[in-house]
Amino acid sequence: MSDCIFCKIIKGEIPSTKVYSDEHATAFRDIQPAAPTHILIVPNRHIDSINAMTADDEQTVGYLFSVAKKIAAQEGIAEGGYRLIINTNADAGQTVFHIHLHLLGGRRMGVMA
Ligand code: 5GP
Ligand code: ZN
Repeated sequence: MSDCIFCKIIKGEIPSTKVYSDEHATAFRDIQPAAPTHILIVPNRHIDSINAMTADDEQTVGYLFSVAKKIAAQEGIAEGGYRLIINTNADAGQTVFHIHLHLLGGRRMGVMA
């Protein structure tokens, strides 16, 4: 998607602090971190949101969780714990319409709101 900010980050057209990338997924630090570790893990292929997911996307989206596990270990937060979030549409506060898994850690999380 030509006007998608995360597609541009994946292609390196917009700067970001990347912490991981491979053929299927890319991970970079959130520009406005909500925790000491706040990383966004995105599929390299553009998918708007979980609502736009098809059966063909199941492997791709599931793979984001494998990457999250790897990065949590890399960041030293695997033992202490971390939270994984995917916001979908307005009520959840989705602002970027390219599926992204938030990896949050490095502090004690509050209850879900
Ligand atoms: P959402 O609210 O859609 O689940 O999360 C979007 C996230 O993307 C937000 O946490 C926001 O700070 C982050 N974000 C938005 N624009 C950029 C950007 O240009 N670079 C980076 N690294 N993060 C961004
Ligand atoms: Zn995109």
